[in-house]
Amino acid sequence: MPNQQVVLQPEEAPPEINYHREWQAFAMRRNLALFMLYGWLPICFALFWLSRLWIHQPLASVAVMAIWLGGAFAAIWWAGEYRCPRCRRRYGALGHRKGDVNLTRGIFDKVCSNCKLRKFEVVR
Ligand SMILES: [Zn+2]
Repeated sequence: MPNQQVVLQPEEAPPEINYHREWQAFAMRRNLALFMLYGWLPICFALFWLSRLWIHQPLASVAVMAIWLGGAFAAIWWAGEYRCPRCRRRYGALGHRKGDVNLTRGIFDKVCSNCKLRKFEVVR
């Protein structure tokens, strides 16, 4: 019965859990948020000059800037909604830096405020 060996026995030997995929998902969200955030100013400059020199659509450019900024905040919120892979709480939802702005919660935290799982810690 080779299938018997696959059954986990959490009481005796806690299985090693690999959070690699969860962390990859988190890194993707965070990178998207940071890309959107830091990309906003260059995008504004680019749109400004593009509109001035070529397309002459200032209102459309401003609209794109606003949409991009909205998307950036949405991405930041999305990254902040990431759940700690171990305790399933919002990663750094309360923040280990108290009084911090809620919008950036989780993105720059290094440990889970709930179970102290370190960011990108892979095992256990
Ligand atoms: Zn946790």
